[in-house]
Amino acid sequence: MITPSAQQQEVIDHPLQPLRVNAGAGTGKTTTMALRLVYLLNRGRIQSALGVTFTNKASAELRQRIEELRGDDASGEVEITTYHGFAASLLLEFGAYVGVERTARLVTPGFVRQLLRETLGGGRYEHLDLSAPGHRVEELAALGGQLADNLADPELVDPGQGDVGHRRHELLESLARYQRLKRGLDVVDFSDLIALAYRLVKEQPSVPAALRERYGVVLLDEYQDTNPAQRELLRAVFGDGFPVTAVGDADQTIYEWRGASLENFARFPEHFPTENGRPSTTLPLTLNRRSGENIIAAANAVASQISHRATSETLTALADAPPGEVGTGWFRTAEDEARWLASEILAAHHEGLAWRDTAVIFRKNAQIPLIRQALAQAEIPLQVVSLGGLLHVPEVTDLWCWLRLLDDPSDGAALLRVLLGPHFGLGLGDLVPLAEWVREHDGSVPDEGDLPGFTLLEAALAVADLPRSRATDALGRFRLIHSALVEEAQGVTLVELCRRVIDRLGMWIEIDSLDGNAARSARLNVYRFLDLAESWSPLEGRPSLTAFLEYLELLSSERAPEELDLAPTARTEAVTLITAHRAKGLEWDSVYLPAVVNDTFPAKSQAFDDPVERPSSLPFQARLDADHLPRLDPDNASARKNVLRALHADQEWRTAYVAVTRAKRRLVLSGAYWYGQKKPKRPSELFSLIEGLRFSIRLADCDEAGDRPDAPAIFDSAPAPDPHFKDGWRTALLQTIEDRGWARTNAGDKAAYDEHVDQLSLMLGELPKPADPTPSKSEPISVSSLVTYATCPKRYYWTDVDRLPRRPARWLQAGVDLHRRIELHNRGVMPLEIAGDDTYDFVPDEQEPRPGAFEAFEASRFAVAKPAWVEAPFLLKLGTDRIRGRIDAVYVDGTSWEVVDFKSGRKKSEPTRQVQLQAYGVAIDEGSLGSRPDSLSVTFAYLGDGLEEDSTRADAKWLDEARTRLTTLLDAINNERFEPEPSPACRHCDFVKFCEPGQQWLADHEDPD
Ligand code: SF4
Repeated sequence: MITPSAQQQEVIDHPLQPLRVNAGAGTGKTTTMALRLVYLLNRGRIQSALGVTFTNKASAELRQRIEELRGDDASGEVEITTYHGFAASLLLEFGAYVGVERTARLVTPGFVRQLLRETLGGGRYEHLDLSAPGHRVEELAALGGQLADNLADPELVDPGQGDVGHRRHELLESLARYQRLKRGLDVVDFSDLIALAYRLVKEQPSVPAALRERYGVVLLDEYQDTNPAQRELLRAVFGDGFPVTAVGDADQTIYEWRGASLENFARFPEHFPTENGRPSTTLPLTLNRRSGENIIAAANAVASQISHRATSETLTALADAPPGEVGTGWFRTAEDEARWLASEILAAHHEGLAWRDTAVIFRKNAQIPLIRQALAQAEIPLQVVSLGGLLHVPEVTDLWCWLRLLDDPSDGAALLRVLLGPHFGLGLGDLVPLAEWVREHDGSVPDEGDLPGFTLLEAALAVADLPRSRATDALGRFRLIHSALVEEAQGVTLVELCRRVIDRLGMWIEIDSLDGNAARSARLNVYRFLDLAESWSPLEGRPSLTAFLEYLELLSSERAPEELDLAPTARTEAVTLITAHRAKGLEWDSVYLPAVVNDTFPAKSQAFDDPVERPSSLPFQARLDADHLPRLDPDNASARKNVLRALHADQEWRTAYVAVTRAKRRLVLSGAYWYGQKKPKRPSELFSLIEGLRFSIRLADCDEAGDRPDAPAIFDSAPAPDPHFKDGWRTALLQTIEDRGWARTNAGDKAAYDEHVDQLSLMLGELPKPADPTPSKSEPISVSSLVTYATCPKRYYWTDVDRLPRRPARWLQAGVDLHRRIELHNRGVMPLEIAGDDTYDFVPDEQEPRPGAFEAFEASRFAVAKPAWVEAPFLLKLGTDRIRGRIDAVYVDGTSWEVVDFKSGRKKSEPTRQVQLQAYGVAIDEGSLGSRPDSLSVTFAYLGDGLEEDSTRADAKWLDEARTRLTTLLDAINNERFEPEPSPACRHCDFVKFCEPGQQWLADHEDPD
């Protein structure tokens, strides 16, 4: 049972009128909101309510809190959604009024950048510098975001004068083209949701009327983070005295860079007046229920640095709150700081603090790697939650570089990381022959002109020997893995590709061989990357790997827009490494803030968002809050800078306020003189502020910066100390090669040495036997292999199990060409992947395309219909077996789908071919493409002699039979039943020369003529 404080009770009891709740950090705002809703519902004051939060996680928390409080027999309805979810639901219900169909798809911020890049390529420019397209895309994203936040139309905004005005004009033209591109693709982005919903409620008065009728009260959570467009949407629906309760904390407005407006919270009483037009009421929540007294005092001290505060309220502690510890540590170097942090975390854990109750909160991603390494070295389990930081975790970097190499063979930097990394262990000296090979071959290009140079990858694939035999072996291994992955990369999903890279590199085995906590950290980090790949959802029919890599590249830069960092946080038994922006809304028992040094935290601004100098900045006069924004003098750069610098400083102090209020019992700030820069750092204003508090404890200190040290070292590169041999294990190994008895004779502690040898022997004995050469059951079987098996098990055996050489089929390349032409037609773009003969599903004995096959396609109904999926890869699980395939095209008409497989020859009635459609039908029925149709048909479209269709309705009975057929075939393969089954297919079988039954069948069925 919760006993509300007096302040909470006042909020709960407030009449059904607009209300602003100024809720400080840790004051139980979610609980208060839930209590107010439940109070109103239980007393029958309202029948239904709407709660709007910022994230899905916050929605889930509010929903759970309400359910706990209401009990099972509660009456009335409560809907909880996010701000974007609210707009999306309006469009889903009423979108047809503004031309948004239910079929419209939502694209993620990462994918928006790919579309912007495409848009950029389609324009003519006189003023924009396109030699750095990545920067221009970011400018488009920034300007586009500001337009959307202010409900501004790119075609109506005055771009301004001079060079900046000309460049902004060209950006605005690009954004207008981007809007058209989205309409053509039937997609919307997050910004559109709000703008379209606003248009809808303005143009259709019946829509807001219906919503006001539907809900008795509306709660708006984290209102300080809303942007002006969201505010105007909410006002258009729930303004004019409707009982809206907005809860927020202006001191935690840290998302101004993504459009949050301080004006929204500050001017809520005017924006949402009472029914008689008077400004609405504000109530405070100041009793912090989270933190110790000293931590609250530190938070108040930080908040007092914010120059423009919406409130003068300060947080107070619970009467029985513990004091809480606030401390600082100062060091000579960043490595000293990192090692000390690790030792503090370790000591706290040994005193009983769970790993999950500790977080290290960073202002910048760049500081994560060194501290991550120190924690890993101290065997502390950890999870890097910031995606920018995650990409620098070694096991993730390896995976990332492999993806880059598979996407772009000329990515020399990725290749270097792969070859020099832990899996292949080449040294720079080993690469000399590769560099020479490139030089020689580039030299042989007669006229370099536009010809691309030779790549390091080509050298790695061509050079046979390196100076060290071990390096030669490693290069050979690299070649094998590379060629296998290039082949496997065709037609698999992004996450499946990541899994294959992991499998080929034996990454899981390596991770399992690490010590317990190191293995847990590595596993968590790789899982997090796989989650990211899994959640990556570009539009169907567009290349996903390239777009995904562009997204990662953007994330890895320090300037990465935080909106892209969608990493979920999980309460797992590990220390969390996270940036301050991502930490909002979370809490830990102990919180460490490292690198609290000048220009880092508070951070120095690289460049201010000055519309007079920056084309990507929307002029203030085009913004919704123009009347309340500070004036920027176009003729006085230094005055403008002062105004913008003050705004930036406030934002940094609010970020610091968020960071320090995450701690419950322990808050430690640290810093060092040297982080690899030229001049020593000094404590920042934030560090000095906390250090100067009377209760703050100095936990570590260093008076002298001393001489500038080398750049922070990668700890892992130093040879690890060995417990048995004082000169390290490398020397011991060399001695032991000379003299087998050397190790035991020279071990420092013989009993411990013997014990380690016994343990190792046991581990070696438990290693699995070498893999069986027959195909691993963990590999999925392709649809075409399954059809081959259905045609003749012996033929499958010789094709897929004990492979015999086959003559190249002429029809195969021609078939590939036909499918590629159809694919290009359907996509309207050139696919980036190189089509190979296993890119498409071909069944045995498919015929050579007859002249006019593509023309037959062009004349068919399929040429004018737009498929929803093109060359859609899938992975179907049946029991423990998996089938992989690729569907030529799926056409969608409402809830009816038609799967089409194009055949290059004439119509043939071979029952075994049906296996292909059966696999496709079952895959779709299992949801392999994400959703399921109400009705499904499967079609072979034969193009060899005009169009001939062979179509079947895949109803429940058909699907049952299909499942049984597939399962029977898979069982037979698993039971290694490979007897020949001669048939007319022997006429086209490559193996008939070796196959007596096949020859016999041909003899028996020889045409006498
Ligand atoms: S010749 Fe006929 S029976 Fe022999 S493997 Fe080929 S298809 Fe099977």
